[in-house]
Amino acid sequence: MATVEYKKPCDLCGQPVEIEGFTLITDKGQQLFCCGGCVSIYRLLHSNIAMTNTKPSTHNKKEDS
Ligand SMILES: [Zn+2]
Repeated sequence: MATVEYKKPCDLCGQPVEIEGFTLITDKGQQLFCCGGCVSIYRLLHSNIAMTNTKPSTHNKKEDS
């Protein structure tokens, strides 16, 4: 069951976002990222603005270890 949504480029590196879940809600709106690394870097670069980490409700837990 693949719901095809249009792919937005990563807000940090510009690569197509293949995996959901690397999302931050900032005062500028929702930012999408391709990977956890990009999220971390974005947070560092924009640590002055408020942001909220969001997670998809239930998805495959690839990042869990
Ligand atoms: Zn990226």
